[in-house]
Amino acid sequence: MFTHLVTDLIGRPGTRRDVDLRGQLDIRMQLAAVVEPVEAHVTLEATSEEIVARGVVEFVEHLTCNRCLTEWDEPASVEFLEVFDEVDRSGRIDLEQMLIDEVSLALPLTPLCRPDCAGLCPTCGTDLNTDPCSGHPDEAVSPFGALQQLLEP
Ligand SMILES: [Zn+2]
Ligand SMILES: [Zn+2]
Repeated sequence: MFTHLVTDLIGRPGTRRDVDLRGQLDIRMQLAAVVEPVEAHVTLEATSEEIVARGVVEFVEHLTCNRCLTEWDEPASVEFLEVFDEVDRSGRIDLEQMLIDEVSLALPLTPLCRPDCAGLCPTCGTDLNTDPCSGHPDEAVSPFGALQQLLEP
């Protein structure tokens, strides 16, 4: 998907060409993933021995809040510059691994839905952003506590 024919550039230093590449990069981390196809806008330029690819890749981050587990999508982009000193026999370069590396590095390790996210109550799982938990003074408020009372004579 991200392989690109560069036979017209090889051996012609100074020649440059713009290409748009689009495709799926399967990147899944614990709290961040890229699930939609990404778009790379690349300028390819030949030097005497190499092909230089520089540009920007645009993608949609699918994020999960590290505190409250809310999920949301966020557009993002990252710039790249890569030098290809090897072109395969069919005259192609493959940008996929470079794009996977660049996008993976740009994803947040601990996304937060907002900087002051209050997270979830560790006891009942209530989302403390929307519903302040009044606390758990005794076991009776949990479903198991209520069940216990029913079973007791
Ligand atoms: Zn949150
Ligand atoms: Zn609670």
